[in-house]
Amino acid sequence: MDRLLQVDPRLQELIKNTIALSPIDFGIPKFGGLRTEKEQEELYRKGLSKCDGYKIKSFHQTGNAIDIYAYINGKASWNKIHLAIIAGVILGEANRMNLNVRWGGTFGSDSFNGWDMPHFELITY
Ligand SMILES: [Zn+2]
Repeated sequence: MDRLLQVDPRLQELIKNTIALSPIDFGIPKFGGLRTEKEQEELYRKGLSKCDGYKIKSFHQTGNAIDIYAYINGKASWNKIHLAIIAGVILGEANRMNLNVRWGGTFGSDSFNGWDMPHFELITY
């Protein structure tokens, strides 16, 4: 919940609504919310992100993105089916709230970031 409080208020509301609606519980991992330039660079160095935080910025650096994991039987899960079910609820709720939210699961394997199932970003432009 602390991680949620640092992102755009619209994204916070969307996630709170979704938690109440989703058949699968979910959480936000460390660095899944707002990231500093240094944190972003650290993820880049570890090969976990293609954004280096300086030349190429992540939506996470402006509080316009959130990553999730599914919570299954008391454990974190990054299972694609679980994430896709939650994504369906998030995107449906975003639509109802009139928010333009892009899911990393639709990026495609040939895109810059590749598939990014846990990732959701709020487009504000
Ligand atoms: Zn992300």
